[in-house]
Amino acid sequence: MKNINETVDVVIAGGGTAGHVAALQAARAGITTSIIEAGTMLGGTMTSGGVYMPNHFFSAEKPVVLGIPWELYTKSKEIEGLPLPDYKQRRPVENPSYYSYINVPIYASIAEEEAVKAGVILHYHEFIADVAAVGDYWEITSFGRGIKRTTKAKEIIDCTGDSDVIRILGLGVLRDKVRQPGAYQYKIEGIEYEQIWDGEVQTLYDEAMENGILQKGDFAYLNSLPFRYYLAHGGHNATHIYDADTSDADGQTRANLEGRARMLRMFKFVTSSIPGCERAVLKTMYPHGLARETYRTEGEYVVTKEDFLKATDFEDKVCNAFNYIDMHNEESGCEVFFHESKDLLPKVPFRALIPKGSSRVTVAGRIVSADRVALAGIRAQCTCMAMGQAMGAAAALAVKKGIPSREVAVKDIVALTVEHGAVPI
Ligand SMILES: Cc1cc2nc3c(=O)[nH]c(=O)nc-3n(C[C@H](O)[C@H](O)[C@H](O)COP(=O)(O)OP(=O)(O)OC[C@H]3O[C@@H](n4cnc5c(N)ncnc54)[C@H](O)[C@@H]3O)c2cc1C
Repeated sequence: MKNINETVDVVIAGGGTAGHVAALQAARAGITTSIIEAGTMLGGTMTSGGVYMPNHFFSAEKPVVLGIPWELYTKSKEIEGLPLPDYKQRRPVENPSYYSYINVPIYASIAEEEAVKAGVILHYHEFIADVAAVGDYWEITSFGRGIKRTTKAKEIIDCTGDSDVIRILGLGVLRDKVRQPGAYQYKIEGIEYEQIWDGEVQTLYDEAMENGILQKGDFAYLNSLPFRYYLAHGGHNATHIYDADTSDADGQTRANLEGRARMLRMFKFVTSSIPGCERAVLKTMYPHGLARETYRTEGEYVVTKEDFLKATDFEDKVCNAFNYIDMHNEESGCEVFFHESKDLLPKVPFRALIPKGSSRVTVAGRIVSADRVALAGIRAQCTCMAMGQAMGAAAALAVKKGIPSREVAVKDIVALTVEHGAVPI
């Protein structure tokens, strides 16, 4: 095994939804930045996880997240040769849809190209195993195949989705007994929809559930949407994995095994039992099972459901968090809560991104400090990316000023993100 030493200003733990934007912001602001990413590409859940629907760049009224996420999105749309959707057409409050779809191969490659251009040091196939404070520095130990890397850094941003760094440091985490189910992403193509009769497929599905050919969760929205929904989406984003916990390799393995078993069972059922699906093909499968929530960070402030739904105007707000609450469950499949008015635009406070009692470490993404109902709204991808941009800015300013990130003035964080295209807040 090679022992490698590296020194950077900031380490981004996990180059996923929040992490790739955090790294770009930090590096473009002029500090040395590395990403240590256990997977094979940037984007995490939104690319290798197959959840290619970032919510939301725009509310019904105005842009809510622009900056680096919007730049990457528009660049990738340009390569796809597709026009940008007209966001003014979206429905104001009660309609959860109108996703901005990304093309995974293009988006992941664009993000990577921009990261390399900005000087971000990329370490794929490597996971963070230990973090220790040594004087004013962090010493971060990561392992990849044949490599043990020791990185010296002034700041860390935990973007692991499971609070890995926070847990290693023994800082507080929030975890609920009942958690949202996870999922496995795949897509069946070639269904001949003109042959599909809603009532018939529902009966066939109900019978398959009754006689054990299918299992609860193979179709996620079992009591909230008709089975027709599964076919209309080719199974994409329509399978639940109960109790999914990807916060360690055993949990990740279990999620993968269960996700793929569910996928195969459904494919066999659909192609062998539903008229119009005989020639359907299982074309796309994403590499890892997903969790919606595992360990969140306990921050200096915990955002509540009320904060989210009433859109508390925090003094230390760093970005918008426009979304509805999308709470998946085992009973009906999913429950949603909408804001009462289109004028309510939730925000993320800096204190929810600072682990309680910590210094020189921040978090971004779905591990934001929030109760689990609020999290079911804040965890949307555009918000995760905006949090990443804000914490990338906080780390850059901290390093330049020679102070810990938690002491950086919020107005300076926001000003730096706005300089890099973000929506003024
Ligand atoms: C099934 C599902 C459907 C969803 N639907 C939508 C939707 O339609 N629209 C929407 O906007 N949002 C949706 N979400 C929510 C959203 O996708 C996530 O909340 C968000 O992507 C999480 O981003 P993140 O940066 O926190 O984590 P991730 O994007 O998961 O990134 C974490 C990264 O950290 C890496 N990592 C973890 N541990 C380590 C370690 N120790 N060392 C190195 N690397 C590590 C991982 O490999 C990963 O790349 C959905 C989520 C799920 C699971």
